[in-house]
Amino acid sequence: MKEMICITCPKGCHLQVDETTLTVRGNGCPRGVVYAQNEMTDPKRTVTSTVAISGSFLARCPVRTTAPVPKGKMKELVALLKEHTLVSPVKTGDVVIKNVFGCGADVIVTRDM
Ligand code: SF4
Repeated sequence: MKEMICITCPKGCHLQVDETTLTVRGNGCPRGVVYAQNEMTDPKRTVTSTVAISGSFLARCPVRTTAPVPKGKMKELVALLKEHTLVSPVKTGDVVIKNVFGCGADVIVTRDM
């Protein structure tokens, strides 16, 4: 039995997941089952980070992925972002990396700078 906390909503239900059958207990709603089963089979996270920017009043620009990316790729993504330098001006929603790792998510700017 694996234990985890559902991070889908602020309630934070404590879930117990059977590693063989993927049966879930402790969920307050059906989304907890989806969360737990995804965590067991293909965990993903939305990544927020910063990218260097030149010509702006700040040295780094905040960015995020438009959808969750595989958890196992997070370190690789952060390393990839270190190789990028934006040039001001940029607008919220500008794409920094399209379809990162081919997983369907883009990395976008989250602040006008
Ligand atoms: S199981 Fe449902 S109610 Fe509980 S934390 Fe997850 S989303 Fe929220």
